[in-house]
Amino acid sequence: MPRPIHATIHLEALKHNLAVLRARAQDARVWAVVKANAYGHGIERVFEGLRGADGFALLDLDEAQRVRDLGWRGPILLLEGVFEPRDLELCSRLDLWHTVHCDAQIDMLSRHKTQVPQRVFLKMNSGMNRLGFAPGRFRAAWSRLNALPQVDEVSLMTHFSDADGERGIAHQTAVFAQHCQDLPGERSLANSAALLRHHQDASVMADWVRPGIALYGSSPDHPQNQVAHWGLRPTMSLRSQLIGLQTLAAGDSVGYASTYRAAAPQRMGVVACGYADGYPRLCPTGTPVLVGGVPTRTLGRVSMDMIAVDLEPVIQAGANPLVGTAVTLWGQDASGAVLPIDEPAAAAGTIGYELMCALATRVPVSTDA
Ligand SMILES: *Cc1c(COP(=O)(O)O)cnc(C)c1O
Repeated sequence: MPRPIHATIHLEALKHNLAVLRARAQDARVWAVVKANAYGHGIERVFEGLRGADGFALLDLDEAQRVRDLGWRGPILLLEGVFEPRDLELCSRLDLWHTVHCDAQIDMLSRHKTQVPQRVFLKMNSGMNRLGFAPGRFRAAWSRLNALPQVDEVSLMTHFSDADGERGIAHQTAVFAQHCQDLPGERSLANSAALLRHHQDASVMADWVRPGIALYGSSPDHPQNQVAHWGLRPTMSLRSQLIGLQTLAAGDSVGYASTYRAAAPQRMGVVACGYADGYPRLCPTGTPVLVGGVPTRTLGRVSMDMIAVDLEPVIQAGANPLVGTAVTLWGQDASGAVLPIDEPAAAAGTIGYELMCALATRVPVSTDA
């Protein structure tokens, strides 16, 4: 028998989350962001759950090819645009829309030989200071693009740095509105956090929203808001089993570096899951975990293939944990209990995005259609 660890992708939850986000997005169309192999879920695995989107947004040309291979004929947007001239040939061949964020990409387009003009999303750096034209240079870039025979429609986009936090988006929406004024073209601004927190503002929803993380049932503004607050469901569950049991005496320690020491006699389980499966080594003692559907906590250091869990709360809940008892590291337990991925992520000082993306290739994955 293989190790009992397994990840499950929940198609119904993907459909549900997409419907929740669409309902908030006013009249905007929805890009399902599936970069990084659908946030670690697998593009082929999520496709059925997300095919109700209006388009797929991603970064890699090979991911775009995979979405076309699945039979998707609708829009696909390259969020970072092209990296070299020959990428434009694939854009033509696969009918990809692409972001234009710098002059070098306009230069490449101006030299591209194509019969069919391409649709581009011109990106403004409205304050994030990652990709995009400075506001004062945006109009000139638009004019240059608009004059190219290689270009069909020019849409306008920007990306928020603080949609999930206190600073918010007003400083960026003001810059974007000012420097897009009177320019024709569809507009796209909102990521998950903007879509969830600023959906009353029609100018933020605009023509296209670009949710990623919320589709996958993680709250972009955790811990301020839990995923349940947004009505979203986990789309990835990482489950394993107890493979060993120990009884600690007062003073006994657990795991490498003896970072946990029992104050009193305590029953403890060993789970087949470690950092080589993508479970963060930085999760300290006390990280939430479900054993037999009962909330409990990890004990001591995460090792490569195993973690230790406290069985006292499980026994107190009336359960009888044994070798083979189900453990949920994140997501949904078979009993229906939910442990949002945001909780172990926060315990490790990171975000749900990173845990999803870091699921190790040695973990078998299936969908529960
Ligand atoms: C990744 C990404 C998104 C989606 O962000 P989430 O926070 O996952 O919703 C949207 N737009 C761009 C440009 C991105 O790179």
